[in-house]
Amino acid sequence: MKEKKKSIAILGSTGSIGTQALDVIRQHHDYFEVEVLTAQNNADLLIEQAIAFQPNVVVIANETLLEKVKTALSHQPIKVYGGDAALASVVQMESIDLVLTALVGYSGVLPTIKAIEAGKNIALANKETLVVAGALITKLAQEKGVNIYPVDSEHSAIFQCIVGEFHNKIEKIILTASGGPFRGKTREELQHVTKAQALKHPNWSMGAKVTIDSASLMNKGLEVIEAKWLFHLKPEQIEVVVHPQSIIHSLVQFEDSSIKAQLGLPDMRLPIQFAMTYPARFKCDFPRFNFAHYPSLTLEQPDTKTFRNLALAFQALEKGGNAPCVLNAANEIAVASFLKDEIGFLEMSYLVEQCLNEMSYIKEPRFEDYVETDTATRRKATEIIKNKK
Ligand code: MG
Repeated sequence: MKEKKKSIAILGSTGSIGTQALDVIRQHHDYFEVEVLTAQNNADLLIEQAIAFQPNVVVIANETLLEKVKTALSHQPIKVYGGDAALASVVQMESIDLVLTALVGYSGVLPTIKAIEAGKNIALANKETLVVAGALITKLAQEKGVNIYPVDSEHSAIFQCIVGEFHNKIEKIILTASGGPFRGKTREELQHVTKAQALKHPNWSMGAKVTIDSASLMNKGLEVIEAKWLFHLKPEQIEVVVHPQSIIHSLVQFEDSSIKAQLGLPDMRLPIQFAMTYPARFKCDFPRFNFAHYPSLTLEQPDTKTFRNLALAFQALEKGGNAPCVLNAANEIAVASFLKDEIGFLEMSYLVEQCLNEMSYIKEPRFEDYVETDTATRRKATEIIKNKK
């Protein structure tokens, strides 16, 4: 007898991860069906995806676009909702087996919590969720018996290395970083880099937020915090190494000194697929790695004096409490302002640092404290930028 198809909700289906997840589903349509698709603003692509994949429900978070989506799908057997509240409630639908969270930034926190509360397994592409509220989310997931499968390529690599290791402890993990487009540059050179330069990632094609974060190394900082929660690690068990070729996606060292690594071409469809098919590996036609094309794979220390964000993220991680939430909120404002040409590349780190120093510290935040910290930090960061002008 054929197994029931796995029913997937994709939050953020029109983004880079969302569209690649739909590619994976298209290749394995015998195994998956799309139950829910959601988008923030891209109504046109959401409509197109809905017609192609026939989900039960679509949600457009920006409510001003609700009528447009409704009208376009009026002849389809698809329910259409609008707004953040709808987003937070559809993830609890009985029929969903797995929720892929591919929203951008802080907006992923509440829907992820709601999905976990309803006992849904999570394929987590929204690292900010664990950065902001890792303690709360991992505790809740444990209580509800929910699995969180990493989609971030580095974390997927670590996950793939520990599959089958059962009770063997991780001594440390080594997260690889490409170093981004500005690797090797000095602070003087970074002073005047433009957003166009920052948006040109050498190896990965991704959304704007994560691409800027990669250029500033904040992405690796956020990933360090994400790794702490996913794999129950102490800060001193997490190391970052720059690997410009992005072939080794990360490494795990065990207590007997053995190191395992996961390798492959930089293609997000693999970690997306593995999060959806775990523990199975499905045959696919993604391009294969060829050693002949990569005569050398190199590793080097990250330059945290030039790229301060990585050091700031470690600081926030050590401090704990709401500090990573402050880091994340300040960084989201910093990236948005950099993309609007309001602040320079290096000013992003200053903004984050200033917020980390000035926001009040809460040791054991509850959900409301995270919400309040996020709002207050955004306000603070926006003020700092305004006063600077
Ligand atoms: Mg990553």
